[in-house]
Formats: sequence, structure tokens, C-alpha cells
Amino acid sequence: MTRIIDGKAFAAQLRETIAAEVAGLAKKPGLAVVLVGEDPASKVYVANKARQTVEVGMVSFEHRLPAQTTQSELEALVARLNADPEVHGILVQLPLPKHLNAEQVIAAISPEKDVDGLTVVNAGRLVAGLEGLVPCTPLGCILLLESLIPDMTGLNAVVIGRSHLVGKPVAQMLLQKNCTVTVAHSKTRDLPGLCRTADILVAAVGRPEMVKGEWVKPGAVVIDVGINRVAGREPGKTKLVGDVDFAAAAPVAGAITPVPGGVGPMTIACLLRNTLTAFKRLENLHN
Ligand code: NDP
Repeated sequence: MTRIIDGKAFAAQLRETIAAEVAGLAKKPGLAVVLVGEDPASKVYVANKARQTVEVGMVSFEHRLPAQTTQSELEALVARLNADPEVHGILVQLPLPKHLNAEQVIAAISPEKDVDGLTVVNAGRLVAGLEGLVPCTPLGCILLLESLIPDMTGLNAVVIGRSHLVGKPVAQMLLQKNCTVTVAHSKTRDLPGLCRTADILVAAVGRPEMVKGEWVKPGAVVIDVGINRVAGREPGKTKLVGDVDFAAAAPVAGAITPVPGGVGPMTIACLLRNTLTAFKRLENLHN
């Protein structure tokens, strides 16, 4: 029978483990989140992050800046956070207003506090197999996979998507797990045929229900990163779907993440995990 991977429960368990470890610390890890402007989705996301940070016993520093904040003002704040010994993780919520250069802002974050794993230094460390901080959603995918398949050695993994945020880091992490990894993208030929070779199939595309049931190898583990809002059954209502046609793929797969409730809940839990990791390194505590 197909296993439906419960990311919500896994994330709750991860937060509990983190909270238990934080409870035993004399000094508490601090996570600073910077939000520029009034993007409604970002505001909800930042509020969720702040709530969950406090719930695991960490300190949340919220910096809400007006939409007209300048590049130098934002970089000056990042520099202050870099120097602040109470702050162990810094996250600048994306997207930034159009007049700001996100790449430059991210580059200003100290790699040791880059809990989103987005700096070029941390991306390079991941490729080089060095200790660093990895992006949260890919980390969530790998933790879910590890829970199902402790030893991934020799398995064929296909990752659909090559973004810096998801596809590339997931592929690197699967490579570290000794998978044979193929990264597919919009120019890939015979994507269905390629997907059918995958023991592990990760879809990070941003196209609603693109991956069909017949693309899935029987028994494969399917990780659906996609979050797509589409029209619901009732007029005027919307619903969330993944990049995988869940109803068609689930009977074929050995295990599959649903949307919502699969990879999504893992992202913030992994942000907290990264903050704890950064804290331990900055405070010279052993992992
Ligand atoms: P991007 O748009 O940055 O990347 C999408 C990738 O999919 C690109 O590499 C693109 O290829 C590839 N692609 C697009 N169309 C096709 C196609 N027809 N066939 C094969 N490949 C294709 O998206 P992200 O990586 O940022 O996000 C992917 C999905 O994951 C989105 O639905 C997003 O909402 C979701 N997401 C979920 C998160 C979570 O917390 N669960 C966090 C982050 C993202 P090319 O490079 O050739 O253009």
C-alpha cells in the first residue's frame, strides 16, 4: 500500500526535538527575520516563522521595514545583525520590492548566519561537500526521504527543476547520499521516460499536477515540492495542488508527499533546525 508521507507530523516532531534541545541551553538561539514592504503572503509567512521560533524557545527578532527602504539602509541593518551576538540566524524575506537588489542583500549576510542557505558561500560549500548551511525546503525533502530510506546508495534520483532555491540544492544533497542524480528542466527531452527511471522523484517545477501517474515508476518515492493555487470545485474558491497529479500518482508510488501537508510544513521546521545549527557553531558548542 502506498505510504502518504505526513510532513505536518514530521515537522511537529522535528520542532519538538529542537525545543527539547533549546530548553537545555543557557543562552538561547536568536533568529532575525527582515521583511521589507507589505506583501500579504510574506507577512503571513513571517508571522508564522516568528510564532514557531518562540514556540521552540528561541528568540525572534522581527524587523519590518517600509517598502521605500533603500539598498544601503537594508544592507546596514544586515551588517548590524551580522555583528549582533544575540542573533544567530538572519533571514531576509523574499521577494524584495523591485528597486532592491536581492542578490546583493543576500551576499551581505554572514554565511555563518545564513539560515536560508542562499549565500554563494553556502551554495559553494554544499557543492564542495563542506560544512555549511543548506536551504530549508531541500533540507526538508532530504529529512523526509531519510526517514523512509535510511540508505539511498545507488538509487536513481530524478529532480525536476534546477532553481538555486530548490532543484540544485536537492540534487547536490541526493548526490551526497550516493544517489545517481539526474536534474531535469524545461529543455529536458522525454521527461516522462526519464521520470520512469526514478526510484526517487522530486518535483520542484511550479506547474500544477504536471507529473502524471504513468510517469512514476511503480514503488518510487515521490516528493512533491510544488505549491500551486488553482481554481477549486466551487465557483470563486481556490485550492492548493502540487506539481504531481496526486490522485493518479499515489496508487503507483511506494510513498508520496501530499500537497498541502507534505514538504510545505518542513520548511519552517528546517529553518529552526538551521538556526540551532548556526547557534551551536557560533557559540562553539558541539553538534
Ligand atoms: P522556479 O520557477 O525557480 O524553477 C522551476 C524549475 O522548473 C526551473 O528549473 C524550470 O526549468 C523547471 N521547469 C519549468 N517548466 C518545466 C517543464 N515543463 N518541464 C520540466 N521542467 C520545467 O521554481 P522554484 O524552484 O522556486 O519552486 C518550484 C515549486 O516549488 C513552486 O511550485 C514553488 O511554489 C514551490 N516551492 C515550495 C516551497 C515549500 O516550502 N514547499 C519552497 C519553495 C518553492 P528552466 O530552468 O529550464 O526554466
